[in-house]
Amino acid sequence: MAIDKQPSCDDVFEPELLPVSEAVERMAAQITPVTETVTVPLRQSLGWVVAAPVESPIDVPAYTNSAMDGYAIHSSDLPGDGERSLRVLGTVWAGKPLNTEVKAGQAVRIMTGGMMPTGTDTVVIQEHTSVAGDNVRIDGSTAPGKNVRMAGEDISAGESIIEAGTQLEPAHIGLLASLGIDQVKVYRQLKVAFFSTGDELRPLETHAGKTLGPGELFDSNRHTLFSMLERLGVETIDLGVVADTPEATREAFISASDQADMIISSGGVSAGQADFVSSTLAELGDVTFWKLAMRPGRPLACGKVGKAHFFGLPGNPVAVMVAFYEFVQPSIKRMQGCSRLTAPRFAAKCETKLRKSPGRIEYQRGIFETGPDGMTTVRSTGKQGAGRLSSMCMANCLIVIAADKDGVEPGDMVQIEPFHGLV
Ligand code: AMP
Ligand code: MG
Repeated sequence: MAIDKQPSCDDVFEPELLPVSEAVERMAAQITPVTETVTVPLRQSLGWVVAAPVESPIDVPAYTNSAMDGYAIHSSDLPGDGERSLRVLGTVWAGKPLNTEVKAGQAVRIMTGGMMPTGTDTVVIQEHTSVAGDNVRIDGSTAPGKNVRMAGEDISAGESIIEAGTQLEPAHIGLLASLGIDQVKVYRQLKVAFFSTGDELRPLETHAGKTLGPGELFDSNRHTLFSMLERLGVETIDLGVVADTPEATREAFISASDQADMIISSGGVSAGQADFVSSTLAELGDVTFWKLAMRPGRPLACGKVGKAHFFGLPGNPVAVMVAFYEFVQPSIKRMQGCSRLTAPRFAAKCETKLRKSPGRIEYQRGIFETGPDGMTTVRSTGKQGAGRLSSMCMANCLIVIAADKDGVEPGDMVQIEPFHGLV
Protein backbone atom coordinates (compact mmCIF):
# COMPACT_ATOMS: atom_id res chain seq x y z
CA MET A 1 0.00 0.00 0.00
CA ALA A 2 1.28 3.50 -0.87
CA ILE A 3 2.34 5.76 2.00
CA ASP A 4 -0.15 8.55 2.73
CA LYS A 5 2.31 11.47 2.79
CA GLN A 6 1.60 14.36 5.17
CA PRO A 7 2.61 17.99 4.53
CA SER A 8 6.16 18.73 5.70
CA CYS A 9 8.78 21.47 5.54
CA ASP A 10 10.28 19.62 2.58
CA ASP A 11 7.24 20.44 0.48
CA VAL A 12 7.70 23.20 -2.04
CA PHE A 13 4.20 24.52 -1.56
CA GLU A 14 2.04 23.88 1.51
CA PRO A 15 -1.34 25.55 1.03
CA GLU A 16 -2.32 25.59 4.70
CA LEU A 17 0.72 27.54 5.90
CA LEU A 18 -0.05 30.79 7.73
CA PRO A 19 1.60 33.86 6.12
CA VAL A 20 4.02 35.68 8.44
CA SER A 21 2.17 39.02 8.07
CA GLU A 22 -1.04 37.35 9.22
CA ALA A 23 0.75 35.79 12.22
CA VAL A 24 2.22 39.18 13.17
CA GLU A 25 -1.27 40.74 13.10
CA ARG A 26 -2.81 37.98 15.18
CA MET A 27 -0.04 38.28 17.77
CA ALA A 28 -0.39 42.05 17.94
CA ALA A 29 -4.11 41.67 18.62
CA GLN A 30 -3.38 39.38 21.58
CA ILE A 31 -0.76 41.47 23.34
CA THR A 32 -1.79 43.93 26.03
CA PRO A 33 0.82 46.47 27.17
CA VAL A 34 1.65 46.73 30.87
CA THR A 35 0.05 49.66 32.66
CA GLU A 36 2.01 49.79 35.94
CA THR A 37 4.66 52.48 36.12
CA VAL A 38 7.77 53.17 38.19
CA THR A 39 9.90 56.27 38.59
CA VAL A 40 13.60 55.58 38.11
CA PRO A 41 16.77 57.69 38.30
CA LEU A 42 17.81 59.19 34.95
CA ARG A 43 20.79 56.92 34.18
CA GLN A 44 18.83 53.82 35.08
CA SER A 45 16.12 54.76 32.60
CA LEU A 46 18.24 53.98 29.50
CA GLY A 47 16.27 51.48 27.38
CA TRP A 48 13.07 51.86 29.43
CA VAL A 49 9.83 53.15 27.92
CA VAL A 50 8.45 56.52 28.98
CA ALA A 51 4.98 56.18 30.54
CA ALA A 52 3.84 59.81 30.51
CA PRO A 53 4.77 62.69 28.18
CA VAL A 54 7.69 64.73 29.49
CA GLU A 55 7.28 68.50 29.39
CA SER A 56 10.20 70.85 29.55
CA PRO A 57 10.27 72.83 32.80
CA ILE A 58 12.53 75.47 31.19
CA ASP A 59 13.39 77.29 27.97
CA VAL A 60 16.31 75.90 25.99
CA PRO A 61 18.52 77.82 25.57
CA ALA A 62 17.55 79.34 28.90
CA TYR A 63 18.92 82.74 27.79
CA THR A 64 19.73 84.38 24.47
CA ASN A 65 23.40 83.70 23.70
CA SER A 66 26.07 83.92 21.08
CA ALA A 67 26.58 81.06 18.63
CA MET A 68 30.14 82.26 17.76
CA ASP A 69 33.17 84.03 19.18
CA GLY A 70 32.91 87.68 18.07
CA TYR A 71 31.37 91.05 19.00
CA ALA A 72 27.83 91.59 20.22
CA ILE A 73 26.35 94.76 18.74
CA HIS A 74 23.02 96.35 17.99
CA SER A 75 21.97 95.74 14.38
CA SER A 76 21.19 99.45 13.90
CA ASP A 77 24.96 100.04 14.15
CA LEU A 78 25.65 97.86 11.08
CA PRO A 79 26.87 100.24 8.34
CA GLY A 80 25.13 100.05 4.97
CA ASP A 81 28.36 100.61 3.00
CA GLY A 82 31.88 100.99 4.29
CA GLU A 83 32.90 100.43 7.87
CA ARG A 84 32.11 101.63 11.36
CA SER A 85 34.13 101.73 14.52
CA LEU A 86 32.43 100.74 17.81
CA ARG A 87 33.71 101.20 21.36
CA VAL A 88 34.33 97.86 23.16
CA LEU A 89 32.88 97.92 26.70
CA GLY A 90 34.26 94.59 27.90
CA THR A 91 34.10 90.82 27.42
CA VAL A 92 31.33 88.26 28.02
CA TRP A 93 32.51 84.69 28.71
CA ALA A 94 30.24 81.64 28.80
CA GLY A 95 28.85 81.62 32.33
CA LYS A 96 30.07 85.20 33.02
CA PRO A 97 27.48 87.72 31.81
CA LEU A 98 28.06 91.46 31.62
CA ASN A 99 25.59 93.52 33.58
CA THR A 100 25.89 96.76 31.62
CA GLU A 101 23.52 97.95 28.94
CA VAL A 102 25.13 98.32 25.53
CA LYS A 103 24.17 101.55 23.77
CA ALA A 104 24.37 102.72 20.17
CA GLY A 105 27.99 102.96 19.00
CA GLN A 106 29.14 100.35 21.54
CA ALA A 107 30.08 96.65 21.30
CA VAL A 108 31.02 93.81 23.65
CA ARG A 109 33.49 91.03 22.94
CA ILE A 110 31.58 87.75 23.38
CA MET A 111 32.49 84.05 23.46
CA THR A 112 30.36 81.17 22.16
CA GLY A 113 27.57 80.47 24.66
CA GLY A 114 28.01 83.87 26.33
CA MET A 115 24.79 85.64 27.34
CA MET A 116 23.86 88.46 24.93
CA PRO A 117 24.08 91.76 26.86
CA THR A 118 20.99 94.00 27.02
CA GLY A 119 20.86 96.24 23.97
CA THR A 120 22.53 93.78 21.55
CA ASP A 121 20.89 91.51 18.97
CA THR A 122 23.65 90.54 16.53
CA VAL A 123 27.13 88.98 16.70
CA VAL A 124 29.81 89.89 14.16
CA ILE A 125 32.28 86.97 14.12
CA GLN A 126 35.79 87.92 15.20
CA GLU A 127 37.25 86.86 11.84
CA HIS A 128 35.24 89.70 10.23
CA THR A 129 36.48 92.48 12.56
CA SER A 130 39.65 94.38 13.20
CA VAL A 131 40.58 95.69 16.61
CA ALA A 132 42.31 99.02 17.23
CA GLY A 133 42.85 99.85 20.92
CA ASP A 134 39.46 100.05 22.67
CA ASN A 135 37.60 100.01 19.37
CA VAL A 136 36.47 97.32 16.94
CA ARG A 137 35.87 97.95 13.23
CA ILE A 138 33.02 96.16 11.46
CA ASP A 139 31.50 96.31 8.00
CA GLY A 140 27.93 95.79 6.81
CA SER A 141 28.33 92.17 5.66
CA THR A 142 26.67 90.63 8.76
CA ALA A 143 22.89 90.21 8.60
CA PRO A 144 20.90 91.66 11.53
CA GLY A 145 20.24 88.97 14.20
CA LYS A 146 23.02 86.74 12.88
CA ASN A 147 24.99 84.29 15.11
CA VAL A 148 22.54 84.55 17.99
CA ARG A 149 20.66 81.64 19.62
CA MET A 150 17.38 82.93 21.02
CA ALA A 151 16.08 81.88 24.44
CA GLY A 152 13.55 79.06 23.94
CA GLU A 153 14.53 78.62 20.27
CA ASP A 154 15.21 74.88 20.72
CA ILE A 155 12.54 74.11 23.34
CA SER A 156 10.13 76.41 25.13
CA ALA A 157 9.04 75.89 28.74
CA GLY A 158 5.91 73.70 28.91
CA GLU A 159 6.54 72.10 25.52
CA SER A 160 6.15 68.30 25.33
CA ILE A 161 9.57 66.94 24.41
CA ILE A 162 9.34 63.16 24.86
CA GLU A 163 6.14 61.29 24.05
CA ALA A 164 4.80 58.37 26.07
CA GLY A 165 5.88 55.15 24.38
CA THR A 166 9.41 56.38 23.62
CA GLN A 167 12.18 53.92 24.45
CA LEU A 168 14.91 56.03 26.01
CA GLU A 169 18.18 56.27 24.10
CA PRO A 170 21.39 58.18 24.93
CA ALA A 171 20.11 61.39 23.27
CA HIS A 172 16.99 61.35 25.46
CA ILE A 173 19.11 60.89 28.58
CA GLY A 174 21.22 63.91 27.58
CA LEU A 175 18.14 65.96 26.70
CA LEU A 176 16.48 65.22 30.05
CA ALA A 177 19.70 66.15 31.87
CA SER A 178 19.86 69.42 29.91
CA LEU A 179 16.44 70.28 31.34
CA GLY A 180 17.49 69.53 34.93
CA ILE A 181 15.37 66.36 35.08
CA ASP A 182 16.96 63.55 37.13
CA GLN A 183 14.18 60.96 37.25
CA VAL A 184 11.71 59.53 34.75
CA LYS A 185 8.34 57.79 34.93
CA VAL A 186 8.57 54.57 32.91
CA TYR A 187 6.58 51.38 32.48
CA ARG A 188 7.63 48.66 34.89
CA GLN A 189 10.09 45.97 33.82
CA LEU A 190 8.66 42.84 32.18
CA LYS A 191 9.39 39.41 33.61
CA VAL A 192 10.10 36.76 31.00
CA ALA A 193 10.51 33.08 31.90
CA PHE A 194 12.21 30.79 29.41
CA PHE A 195 13.26 27.16 29.12
CA SER A 196 14.53 24.57 26.66
CA THR A 197 12.81 21.30 25.96
CA GLY A 198 14.44 18.10 24.76
CA ASP A 199 15.80 14.91 26.34
CA GLU A 200 18.88 15.17 24.12
CA LEU A 201 19.95 18.46 25.71
CA ARG A 202 22.74 18.72 28.25
CA PRO A 203 22.79 21.96 30.25
CA LEU A 204 26.04 23.90 30.62
CA GLU A 205 25.33 24.21 34.34
CA THR A 206 26.19 20.51 34.79
CA HIS A 207 27.99 19.51 31.58
CA ALA A 208 30.26 22.40 30.52
CA GLY A 209 33.57 20.97 29.26
CA LYS A 210 32.36 17.37 29.56
CA THR A 211 32.25 14.83 26.77
CA LEU A 212 28.79 14.39 25.30
CA GLY A 213 27.27 10.92 25.02
CA PRO A 214 25.87 9.62 21.74
CA GLY A 215 22.88 11.65 20.57
CA GLU A 216 23.43 14.36 23.18
CA LEU A 217 24.02 18.06 22.57
CA PHE A 218 24.70 21.13 24.65
CA ASP A 219 21.69 23.34 25.26
CA SER A 220 22.49 26.59 23.47
CA ASN A 221 19.04 28.08 22.91
CA ARG A 222 18.59 29.09 26.53
CA HIS A 223 21.78 31.13 26.36
CA THR A 224 20.84 32.78 23.08
CA LEU A 225 17.40 33.60 24.47
CA PHE A 226 18.90 34.96 27.68
CA SER A 227 21.16 37.25 25.66
CA MET A 228 18.41 38.53 23.36
CA LEU A 229 16.16 39.17 26.38
CA GLU A 230 18.93 41.00 28.26
CA ARG A 231 19.25 43.39 25.34
CA LEU A 232 15.55 44.19 25.62
CA GLY A 233 15.92 45.12 29.26
CA VAL A 234 13.52 42.54 30.69
CA GLU A 235 13.95 40.60 33.93
CA THR A 236 14.85 37.04 32.94
CA ILE A 237 13.72 33.90 34.75
CA ASP A 238 15.72 30.87 33.55
CA LEU A 239 13.83 27.62 34.15
CA GLY A 240 16.53 25.36 32.69
CA VAL A 241 16.09 22.31 30.50
CA VAL A 242 12.72 20.59 30.74
CA ALA A 243 12.45 16.88 29.97
CA ASP A 244 10.14 15.68 27.21
CA THR A 245 7.46 14.32 29.54
CA PRO A 246 3.92 15.58 30.17
CA GLU A 247 4.65 15.95 33.92
CA ALA A 248 7.85 17.99 33.51
CA THR A 249 6.25 20.14 30.79
CA ARG A 250 3.18 20.80 32.93
CA GLU A 251 5.30 21.73 35.95
CA ALA A 252 7.46 24.11 33.90
CA PHE A 253 4.44 25.91 32.46
CA ILE A 254 2.76 26.25 35.85
CA SER A 255 5.91 27.60 37.48
CA ALA A 256 6.52 30.00 34.56
CA SER A 257 2.97 31.35 34.43
CA ASP A 258 3.02 31.97 38.19
CA GLN A 259 6.09 34.20 37.92
CA ALA A 260 6.21 35.81 34.52
CA ASP A 261 4.42 38.14 32.10
CA MET A 262 5.71 36.08 29.20
CA ILE A 263 6.94 32.51 28.72
CA ILE A 264 9.26 31.45 25.92
CA SER A 265 10.19 27.85 25.24
CA SER A 266 12.32 26.35 22.50
CA GLY A 267 11.84 22.97 20.88
CA GLY A 268 8.98 20.55 21.13
CA VAL A 269 6.55 22.32 18.81
CA SER A 270 7.23 20.43 15.59
CA ALA A 271 5.10 17.56 14.33
CA GLY A 272 5.64 14.42 16.38
CA GLN A 273 6.42 16.30 19.58
CA ALA A 274 3.65 18.85 19.68
CA ASP A 275 1.05 16.30 20.75
CA PHE A 276 1.77 16.07 24.45
CA VAL A 277 2.85 19.70 24.65
CA SER A 278 -0.43 20.72 23.03
CA SER A 279 -2.54 18.51 25.32
CA THR A 280 -0.75 19.95 28.37
CA LEU A 281 -1.31 23.48 27.10
CA ALA A 282 -4.95 22.82 26.24
CA GLU A 283 -5.44 22.15 29.93
CA LEU A 284 -3.48 25.18 31.20
CA GLY A 285 -4.27 27.88 28.68
CA ASP A 286 -5.25 28.86 25.19
CA VAL A 287 -2.47 28.15 22.72
CA THR A 288 -2.51 27.71 18.95
CA PHE A 289 0.08 25.66 17.08
CA TRP A 290 0.91 27.31 13.81
CA LYS A 291 2.71 26.22 10.70
CA LEU A 292 4.11 29.43 9.31
CA ALA A 293 4.99 30.18 5.71
CA MET A 294 8.58 31.00 6.66
CA ARG A 295 12.03 29.48 6.69
CA PRO A 296 13.61 28.93 9.12
CA GLY A 297 10.99 28.75 11.85
CA ARG A 298 7.99 26.96 10.40
CA PRO A 299 6.42 25.57 13.62
CA LEU A 300 5.44 28.07 16.30
CA ALA A 301 3.06 27.95 19.25
CA CYS A 302 1.49 31.14 20.48
CA GLY A 303 -1.16 32.10 23.01
CA LYS A 304 -1.68 32.36 26.74
CA VAL A 305 -0.80 30.09 29.63
CA GLY A 306 -2.60 31.36 32.72
CA LYS A 307 -2.12 35.14 32.60
CA ALA A 308 1.20 34.93 30.75
CA HIS A 309 1.73 35.30 27.02
CA PHE A 310 3.41 32.28 25.55
CA PHE A 311 5.70 31.73 22.55
CA GLY A 312 6.75 28.16 21.78
CA LEU A 313 9.68 28.59 19.41
CA PRO A 314 11.13 25.85 17.21
CA GLY A 315 14.20 23.99 18.45
CA ASN A 316 16.69 24.78 15.71
CA PRO A 317 19.05 27.50 16.93
CA VAL A 318 18.77 29.82 13.91
CA ALA A 319 14.98 29.37 13.84
CA VAL A 320 14.93 30.42 17.50
CA MET A 321 16.70 33.67 16.68
CA VAL A 322 14.69 34.49 13.57
CA ALA A 323 11.36 33.73 15.27
CA PHE A 324 12.47 35.77 18.27
CA TYR A 325 13.40 38.82 16.20
CA GLU A 326 10.33 38.66 13.96
CA PHE A 327 7.64 37.80 16.54
CA VAL A 328 8.82 37.84 20.15
CA GLN A 329 10.81 41.09 20.09
CA PRO A 330 7.94 43.21 18.66
CA SER A 331 5.58 41.56 21.16
CA ILE A 332 7.88 42.35 24.08
CA LYS A 333 8.22 45.94 22.88
CA ARG A 334 4.45 46.21 22.58
CA MET A 335 4.07 44.85 26.16
CA GLN A 336 6.71 47.33 27.35
CA GLY A 337 4.51 50.13 26.02
CA CYS A 338 6.93 50.97 23.24
CA SER A 339 5.50 52.72 20.18
CA ARG A 340 8.33 51.77 17.77
CA LEU A 341 8.04 48.03 17.32
CA THR A 342 9.60 46.72 14.17
CA ALA A 343 13.19 46.58 12.96
CA PRO A 344 14.07 48.82 10.01
CA ARG A 345 14.51 47.21 6.59
CA PHE A 346 16.70 48.55 3.79
CA ALA A 347 17.13 47.80 0.14
CA ALA A 348 20.49 46.33 -0.90
CA LYS A 349 21.93 44.96 -4.09
CA CYS A 350 22.58 41.24 -3.71
CA GLU A 351 25.98 40.08 -4.96
CA THR A 352 25.41 36.36 -4.67
CA LYS A 353 22.87 33.94 -6.05
CA LEU A 354 20.39 32.90 -3.34
CA ARG A 355 18.55 29.62 -3.71
CA LYS A 356 14.96 29.52 -2.58
CA SER A 357 11.70 27.87 -3.54
CA PRO A 358 8.44 29.83 -3.61
CA GLY A 359 5.78 29.51 -0.91
CA ARG A 360 7.57 30.69 2.23
CA ILE A 361 9.26 33.94 3.24
CA GLU A 362 12.94 33.27 3.87
CA TYR A 363 15.29 34.94 6.32
CA GLN A 364 18.77 34.16 5.02
CA ARG A 365 21.95 35.25 6.75
CA GLY A 366 23.83 38.02 4.97
CA ILE A 367 26.81 40.32 5.21
CA PHE A 368 26.08 43.85 4.03
CA GLU A 369 28.42 46.70 3.39
CA THR A 370 28.09 50.21 2.02
CA GLY A 371 30.64 51.15 -0.63
CA PRO A 372 32.25 54.54 -1.26
CA ASP A 373 29.53 55.18 -3.90
CA GLY A 374 26.91 54.96 -1.14
CA MET A 375 25.46 51.75 -2.58
CA THR A 376 24.66 49.01 -0.05
CA THR A 377 25.47 45.51 -1.21
CA VAL A 378 24.85 42.21 0.53
CA ARG A 379 26.18 38.70 0.13
CA SER A 380 25.19 35.37 1.58
CA THR A 381 27.12 33.84 4.49
CA GLY A 382 26.97 30.53 2.61
CA LYS A 383 25.11 27.41 3.73
CA GLN A 384 21.80 28.29 5.38
CA GLY A 385 20.89 25.29 7.60
CA ALA A 386 18.56 26.18 10.48
CA GLY A 387 20.92 24.55 12.96
CA ARG A 388 23.97 26.48 11.76
CA LEU A 389 24.30 29.15 14.45
CA SER A 390 27.74 30.08 13.12
CA SER A 391 25.95 31.60 10.09
CA MET A 392 24.31 34.10 12.45
CA CYS A 393 27.72 34.97 13.89
CA MET A 394 29.19 35.63 10.43
CA ALA A 395 26.18 37.68 9.39
CA ASN A 396 25.41 41.30 10.16
CA CYS A 397 21.88 41.18 8.72
CA LEU A 398 19.01 38.99 7.66
CA ILE A 399 18.18 38.97 3.97
CA VAL A 400 14.38 38.90 3.77
CA ILE A 401 13.11 37.24 0.60
CA ALA A 402 9.37 37.44 -0.08
CA ALA A 403 7.33 34.23 -0.08
CA ASP A 404 6.51 34.32 -3.79
CA LYS A 405 10.16 34.70 -4.96
CA ASP A 406 11.90 31.65 -6.36
CA GLY A 407 15.46 32.76 -5.70
CA VAL A 408 17.67 35.79 -6.15
CA GLU A 409 20.15 36.41 -8.96
CA PRO A 410 23.35 38.46 -8.52
CA GLY A 411 22.44 42.13 -9.11
CA ASP A 412 18.85 41.77 -7.85
CA MET A 413 17.65 44.15 -5.14
CA VAL A 414 16.71 42.52 -1.83
CA GLN A 415 15.56 43.70 1.57
CA ILE A 416 17.85 43.46 4.57
CA GLU A 417 17.30 43.80 8.31
CA PRO A 418 20.57 44.91 9.94
CA PHE A 419 21.38 43.39 13.33
CA HIS A 420 22.76 46.61 14.79
CA GLY A 421 21.86 50.24 14.45
CA LEU A 422 23.17 53.50 15.81
CA VAL A 423 21.61 53.92 19.22
P1 AMP B 1 12.67 20.16 18.13
O1 AMP B 1 11.85 21.29 17.61
O2 AMP B 1 12.50 19.98 19.60
O3 AMP B 1 12.45 18.92 17.35
O4 AMP B 1 14.17 20.56 17.90
C1 AMP B 1 14.72 20.62 16.62
C2 AMP B 1 16.22 20.50 16.70
O5 AMP B 1 16.74 21.66 17.32
C3 AMP B 1 16.72 19.37 17.57
O6 AMP B 1 16.98 18.24 16.83
C4 AMP B 1 18.01 19.89 18.16
O7 AMP B 1 19.06 19.55 17.32
C5 AMP B 1 17.86 21.37 18.12
N1 AMP B 1 17.61 21.91 19.45
C6 AMP B 1 16.46 21.87 20.14
N2 AMP B 1 16.56 22.51 21.30
C7 AMP B 1 17.84 22.95 21.37
C8 AMP B 1 18.57 23.71 22.32
N3 AMP B 1 18.01 24.14 23.45
N4 AMP B 1 19.87 24.01 22.06
C9 AMP B 1 20.43 23.61 20.91
N5 AMP B 1 19.79 22.92 19.96
C10 AMP B 1 18.52 22.58 20.18
MG1 MG C 1 12.84 18.50 20.98
